[in-house]
Amino acid sequence: MAIRILPPEVASRIAAGEVVERPASVVKELVENALDAGACHITVEAESGGRRLIRVSDDGTGIASQDVELAFHRYATSKLSTIDDLSRITTLGFRGEALASIASVSRLTLITRAAGEPVGVRLYLEGGQIVEREAVGAPQGTMITVENLFYNVPARLKFLKKESTERGHIAALISRYAMAYPHVRFVLSHGSQELLRTTGSGDLLAVLGEVYGLEMASQMIAVEGRADSHTRPDLHPVRVRGYTGLPSLNRSNRGQITLFVNGRWVQDSSLTVAVVQAYHTMLMVGRYPVTVLMIEVPPEELDVNVHPTKAEVRFRQPDAVFSAVQRAVRQALVAEAPPPAVRGEVVWGSPEWAVRRERLAQVTRDRMQQLDIDLGVESPGQHGHQPTPAHEAGAESAAGGPQRTRSLPLLRVVGQVGATYVVAEGPNGLFLIDQHAAHERILYEQFMAERAGQSVASQELLEAVVIELPPDQMALAEESLDILHGVGFGIELFGRNTVRLRAVPALVAGGDPVGTLLAALGEIECGEMPTGATAEEALIARVCKQVAIKAGQLLSHREMEALIRQLERCQTPQTCPHGRPTLLHLSAEQLARQFGRLGAI
Ligand code: ADP
Ligand code: MG
Repeated sequence: MAIRILPPEVASRIAAGEVVERPASVVKELVENALDAGACHITVEAESGGRRLIRVSDDGTGIASQDVELAFHRYATSKLSTIDDLSRITTLGFRGEALASIASVSRLTLITRAAGEPVGVRLYLEGGQIVEREAVGAPQGTMITVENLFYNVPARLKFLKKESTERGHIAALISRYAMAYPHVRFVLSHGSQELLRTTGSGDLLAVLGEVYGLEMASQMIAVEGRADSHTRPDLHPVRVRGYTGLPSLNRSNRGQITLFVNGRWVQDSSLTVAVVQAYHTMLMVGRYPVTVLMIEVPPEELDVNVHPTKAEVRFRQPDAVFSAVQRAVRQALVAEAPPPAVRGEVVWGSPEWAVRRERLAQVTRDRMQQLDIDLGVESPGQHGHQPTPAHEAGAESAAGGPQRTRSLPLLRVVGQVGATYVVAEGPNGLFLIDQHAAHERILYEQFMAERAGQSVASQELLEAVVIELPPDQMALAEESLDILHGVGFGIELFGRNTVRLRAVPALVAGGDPVGTLLAALGEIECGEMPTGATAEEALIARVCKQVAIKAGQLLSHREMEALIRQLERCQTPQTCPHGRPTLLHLSAEQLARQFGRLGAI
């Protein structure tokens, strides 16, 4: 094929793909424009996850009537005029691409009236082409309505996710901007449902309450830090403000670490690490905090022109910013939340250890009672009562049938090491069992056996709990109702951003119902699935992990025996549901070799 220059409408749709990936990217650009225009009230409406309609209205400066057509040209902006301006950008926009891009892949209506103009303008475009222009009465400000997004880019349309997913992205985005701009009043609605409303009072904590719910917001503490320019005059000042969660408020992924740099939401993996590091030894491995931080640096220290979506930035002194963030969060945590004693670093055998031992023992006793773990001696015939998994039906008849071949040898409990591992002796050497992983495996198989018997038993809570969820998690909960019901959660939607939890899977009934549900939602969100597992299996695995005995819990001899007996009954006792080993084996031969006994005379 000969080389040709693409017709402008094709070129513009291709270029639009860089800025507009999904409905939430349209919302982001329009909201940023409203903020740049100095708006105090921003209203966002969406329908069908933003596919059918997105409307952003603001009370900002408006666009002068002679400029309205120009605003839809690529590289048309009022925010920058020379290349030098780029090094001191204080607005969110500057590339002059957004309106042109959005208009080229949708049907767009603009209504705007600039301050001081008697009437407003209405402009209607299809695929970037102006179809209509008329004078209209309008309040000061701008309202942009984007309909049928990607109607002329079928390839993009195909890649859009379910309505609830796209809606979740929009909700998460507005939640973030509401937190970064507490002085601005945001209202977000989807169809007839209002998802978020902030007051614009300027109080970040109040916004956190709106976004996360009061329960979560009450577990967040203020962060306020300034890099000290006295000790390091060579570094530019960095200001870090915001809120961060107490260690007890944690998540299974980094999705709730929200960072703004000079008012711009950024995704910066290095700064995310700085936040996580600030929690060193306060959070378990694999758990992440909930954090919202506003980082401010002099504009000339920052390169915002890295990517068309402007979600990445470069710092001239990345280390200065990294350490300012880490220090500010750490300071806040240490001041308000001394590391919980049980999880602190304790050296085995130290005097402190003896004290902790008693406390741990108590914690463990309570926990075991809560979990109602089968700690007693094995009741006769108990195994036979468990529904037999379908694929195993042939190998084992019901009660009293021949035992299936053992996948673990008979083990004799010797003791516990570090309140984490059970030491046991088998016919051929020594076994070390990870108590947490083993219990996860046991719960998982019990769960799966119940499921194979068609119904997962649910246990009604004494009192239903009403839980407020952040809007994006709410979308997730809504989308996953079937799966959640399937595994035994009695959960229903209960008004704006709240769900009502009536029942939990019976197997985990003794635990913390809210924590269990949040863990399940966390799994759906991040989907760290073992290969080949269905969403449902992954979720069950996550719930089991949440309620399993933790490392650091002292177990009595009887409790350890009960654990081992139950592990022996598992079909796949060697690994936890996530694939990590539950036990290590040191054979008699290995021991003999290590001690130089093999071949000794
Ligand atoms: P950029 O934001 O990078 O300048 P856009 O394509 O997003 O580019 O917008 C083009 C121009 O249109 C802006 O520079 C601004 O002058 C004007 N504009 C867009 N949205 C608004 C709004 N909500 N209020 C006032 N002016 C706006
Ligand atoms: Mg813009």
